[in-house]
Formats: sequence, C-alpha cells, structure tokens
Amino acid sequence: MDTVKTLCPYCGVGCGLEVVGQNNSNNDLSGWKVRGDRSHPSSQGMVCVKGATIIESVDVDRLMQPMVRDRLDQPFQPTSWDAALDLIVAKIQQVRRNLGSDGLCMYGSGQFQTEDYYTAQKLFKGCLGTNNFDANSRLCMSSAVSGYVQSFGADGPPCCYDDLEQTECAFLIGTNTAECHPIVFNRLRKHHKSNSQVKMIVVDPRRTPTAEAADLHLAIQPGSDIALLNGIAHLLLQWGKQDQAFIAQHTNGFEEFATLVKDYPPERVAQICGITVEDLETTARYWSESASVLSMWSMGINQSTQGTAKVQAIINLHLLTAQIGKPGAGPFSLTGQPNAMGGREAGGLAHLLPGYRSVTNPQHRADLEWFWRLPVGQISDRPGRSAWDIVRGLENNEIGLLWIAATNPAVSFPDLERTKAALRRSPFTIYQDAYYPIETSAYAHVLLPATQWSEKTGTMTNSERFVSLCPAFHQPIGESRDDWAIFAEVGRRLGFGDKFRFANSAQVYAEFVKITRDRPCDQSGISHALLTEAGPTQWPHPASSQRSNQPKRLYQDYRFNTADGRAKFGINHNNGLSEATDDAYPFVLTVGRLYGHWHTQTRTGRIKKIQQMHPQPFIEIHPRDAEEIAATAESWLEVKSRRGMARFPVKITKAIAPGVVFVPMHWGALWAEDAEANSLTHPDLDPISLQPELKACAVRLRVLSNL
Ligand code: SF4
Repeated sequence: MDTVKTLCPYCGVGCGLEVVGQNNSNNDLSGWKVRGDRSHPSSQGMVCVKGATIIESVDVDRLMQPMVRDRLDQPFQPTSWDAALDLIVAKIQQVRRNLGSDGLCMYGSGQFQTEDYYTAQKLFKGCLGTNNFDANSRLCMSSAVSGYVQSFGADGPPCCYDDLEQTECAFLIGTNTAECHPIVFNRLRKHHKSNSQVKMIVVDPRRTPTAEAADLHLAIQPGSDIALLNGIAHLLLQWGKQDQAFIAQHTNGFEEFATLVKDYPPERVAQICGITVEDLETTARYWSESASVLSMWSMGINQSTQGTAKVQAIINLHLLTAQIGKPGAGPFSLTGQPNAMGGREAGGLAHLLPGYRSVTNPQHRADLEWFWRLPVGQISDRPGRSAWDIVRGLENNEIGLLWIAATNPAVSFPDLERTKAALRRSPFTIYQDAYYPIETSAYAHVLLPATQWSEKTGTMTNSERFVSLCPAFHQPIGESRDDWAIFAEVGRRLGFGDKFRFANSAQVYAEFVKITRDRPCDQSGISHALLTEAGPTQWPHPASSQRSNQPKRLYQDYRFNTADGRAKFGINHNNGLSEATDDAYPFVLTVGRLYGHWHTQTRTGRIKKIQQMHPQPFIEIHPRDAEEIAATAESWLEVKSRRGMARFPVKITKAIAPGVVFVPMHWGALWAEDAEANSLTHPDLDPISLQPELKACAVRLRVLSNL
C-alpha cells in the first residue's frame, strides 16, 4: 500500500490528508481511503466529512477531452487539444485586434494551486497586458484583504492556529465556524471546553452550531455589525480600558476614532443591533478582562457593501487594546477556499500583482516588468475587471473572450438571472474544469478538461500561511491537463515561448518565490523539494532563514507595513444593509453554508454520503413569522426579491430571528429546480474591496399550498 501526504482541497483551514491505496497503472482508485495526517501542523490528524470523502469525487463525472461548439444552442463536439488551443489562440489574437487586450478576461478560482495562479498572471497581466484576471475569492474574502491593507498597510492574517489554544477570549463574528471551518472550530472548542476561564462570544443573526457552543450569543440584526463593534469600543474607552502607550507609539487616527465612537452609546447600539445593553456590556467586559482576545470572521463580515469597513472596525478593537502580535490575540480572517491565500500571494485578483504588489503602484509594475523581461510600460496601471464588473463588461459588449476556470459563476454570482443573461451574451467563452456538466458549462463555446488536486502537483497556502505541497498520486483522468500547463501552452502558442519554459510545476513555483523576496509574503526559502522533505512551511520564510516549524505571528514587533510603521484606525459609521426591508419586501434573507456541502456542489453533489446528509435545500423561518404567513412544517415557500424567485420547503426554527429567513447557497439548477439562493441576492458592492453583498437582501414570502 502507498501513503501519500497531501492537503484537503476544500476549505481554507487547509487540513493535511493521508491518502492510502494500492498504486496501480490503470488509475483504479477504488479502495483508496483518506485519513487525517497527524503530522500536519494545522489539522493534527483531524478531518471533517468533506475531506474524509473527497476521494469518492475524483473519477466521477469527469470531462474527458476538449469539446467545442459554435453556438450555445448546439451540442458540444469532441476535439483535439491542438485544435482547441489553436482556436483559443486565434480568438485571443482576434479580440486583441478588435477590442484591445482589455477585451480579454479570465475568471479563476481559489481552487487553483499557486502555480496555476502565477502562470495565469504572467500570461494575462504580463504578456497580454491586461489586468482582467479576477477570481472567485472576490466573492469570498476580498474585504478581508482590503481591510488588512487599510489598517496594516499590507494583506495577511497576523495570527496562527496555535492562537486557538492560547486565547482567553474568542470573538467570532459573521462566521459559522463549526460548520464552515470545522477543524479550526474543533481546536477552539476543545480549548474552550477544557478551560472554564476562556470565553467564547459568537455574533450571528442565526443560532448556528457555532453559537450553540458560545458563552454569549449576540443575535444581532443583519447589517448592524459596525454599530456593535463601535459600541464595544465606546464602552472600552468609557471604562478606560484602552492601551494608551500602544496607541501612542504604534497607531494613527485614534483621536478621530474616539470621536466617532461617541456616537455609539450602549442604548443606541442595543437598539440598532436588537440586543440588550447587558449583553453589550458583557461583551466589552469579556474583551477588557481577557489577557488575550482572538477575533475570527468570514463571509458574514466580508460579503457586505461595508465589508472593508467592518474588517477595519474589528481591527480597531485590537489596536485600541493592543490585542495583536502576541499569543492568543489578533484579528484572524478565515479564508473560504483552499488556496485563496496562495491566490493573494500570486496576485490573483484584478488589482494585484504577484508578491503582494498592486497594479496601481509604478514600482511594483516595474519590478514585474524587469523580472518577466517585458518592455517598460507593458503592465497596465488600470485595475482589471472585478467579478461583478465582468457581468457589466458582457452587457456592454466590452468583452470578446471570457475564460472561466475551476469556478461556477452561474450559481455563485449574485442576481443570477442577470448573470446568466450576461453569460449568454459572451461572444466566446472557454470553460476549464475537471467536472462536466456544471451549471456554467452551459454557457461555454469551448470546454477544456483540467486535472485536479489528486492528479497534479502544486502548492496551496492555508489561512495561517502554511504552504503545503499536494503531490499527484495518480495519472490524469482522460485527457485532462494541469491548469498552469494549459496557460503556459497558450502563452507559447501566442509567441511568448521564452516566458513559459517550465518543465514542471516545481519550476513554476521556483520562479514565483523569487519575486516574493523581501515582500510581506516572502517565501523565497520555500521550494517543492523543501516541502517534500520537511513538510508544510509557514511564510514569511526568506531564502536566508533557517526552517522552523513554529507558527509565527505577524507584527510581533508592532511594526506595520505602512510608510511610518504605524497601524491605522478606520473611521466608519454603520450604514446598515444596502437593500433595506419595506412593505413590499418585509423579510431579510440571509444565505450561508452547511457542514457537508462545498460551494456549488461541484464535488460534494457527487458524493453519496454528503447528498444523504443534505438531500435538499430549505428555508429557515421563525415560528412567529411562520404563523403570521400561515406556513406549516409541510409548506413550501415561494421567496421573491426584486430580482428573482425561488421555492423551498419550510424549516420552522427558533434558530433564526423573527423578520429574518435563511437559505443555504449550495443548490444550482443542476441539483434542484428553482432553489437558487442567488437568484434573489443583489450585486451592490463594497466600494473598496468590490465584494458583493451576497449575505443579505430583502424578500417577500408566499405559502405555496399546492405542493
Ligand atoms: Fe477539508 Fe476544511 Fe474539512 Fe479540513 S475543515 S477537512 S480543509 S473541508
């Protein structure tokens, strides 16, 4: 039997896996098993149901060869790789002639390995001269990125998972960690259970399994997070609990912040948030009395028109009380996807360049032009199209070629009817993925089969900055090729052969890490060889450093990445939801995730155990609201927003607050009829992170008596 150490390809917790099976030449994976890798520093042998069952999805419903068609109403025809790549190259050249390079657009994924991300950046932002590369991380954690940048001058979660076992107070806001990041929660829960002095506060409009485990659950009104956070700061200042020396030496903007939070006295905050003054005071007291406070958040904070401001408001509390750069303390965003962190490092958003660089920074562009041996001025100084701007670009006939890889916007984008209409307008769409069918493949002219996690070798970085190597342990299924190799081959066929002389992904990674040297995400001392020999390695890890497996925190010296080395207080009022309820749409819909499913079910929908665990979507409604609209436990509800409609069976529960309903986001048209949560959501964006407010919108409900 062979044992392969690798990484779970689902969420950003980044659990180590051991895949055990009989090596064979005919790619028969039956009998292969997955278990937790006890030697992985992040997960310590633990694994959730998604990781444990991942092997079942490897050879199911795979796209076996390239396919093409001229029009969306035609069936796909099989074709060769040569023919498909020639067609793509010809289309790229045609679009550049007719629309310029900005007529090209790629939408990638946090499922990419870092090598895939890097090669795509080199092709699009470097060789083709367009920054039109964005990724589904835009929908997931771009507000965390911009919040860190605003407050600290650079991206990067400052904490590590060891902080879960060292904190005295865990403050979880906008995160259902127990279901969405289960192994992080297991570590925290164990620590909380075994230490009676450790406090856990959970802020969430729903009473989730995470909230069930808390000492204090604040079921705030959706969209009132900043009021709560500013209200906590108000009390801390009123009680004199700020760390004046830290504030004076290491921050800017305190006076303005102190003035701002005067507007958030407890009575007003309690009224905005729908909580008691007593609970607000208890929260502030837990915070002030704990030697260490660890904040964690995910989509409930990020997916908002005030996502960046909310992240800043969390960080403000840490700056106010010097709860950063020490064990058990700091603001810690939990990343949704397995390699969204690697994407940030490799420049995988439309405003970024590799090595935590920005397209708007002349020196950063010059760094890359020199490194990639490109003409001066080749890299555009304009940020490319963010996720939702791709829809606008299609609507305005500004995109001639759209290349989507390893993600499913026909389910995950907001305002799905508008999204689908825009996708139908695309003159030429390439869809590159391991699986077929997927909802988005219906909008493609070319399908390219990609290898996935188990059959290609590459690196991924988890939420605590550990880089792990995922080695291939079987042959590619069908004719599928590695994403990075597809991008490199297109680059070579476009005449950039000298830029893409990679023989394997180890060489891609070796080139990438060179441009992280002396950058905040410095991993110039890491290589595939080191990861193979020594296992997961945390950055920063400069070439000059000795390898150490001790998790490190950022900002232990209190020197931040701003020009003067000081962190900055964010000054933000609470604006509430972008789409408020009214008489026509009186309920707030909030969407979220379930323990077993992952995103749009591309993999988990093909795993029997998970399908049995979560067989169908549903809508949660409070008993009082159910009674008011005459819904029973057997009812189905029609849910309408200003953009669309969906239908769900009812789940009556006190876990949801009156006036709020909850729907899981996992179901697309492939898995259930008229049950797409995002047919209801709206695309209003955070002005800095450009992340849509997928978390909440206004809806009305009607009982469907005939179902
Ligand atoms: Fe995979 Fe996340 Fe589950 Fe860990 S917690 S096994 S990374 S899905």
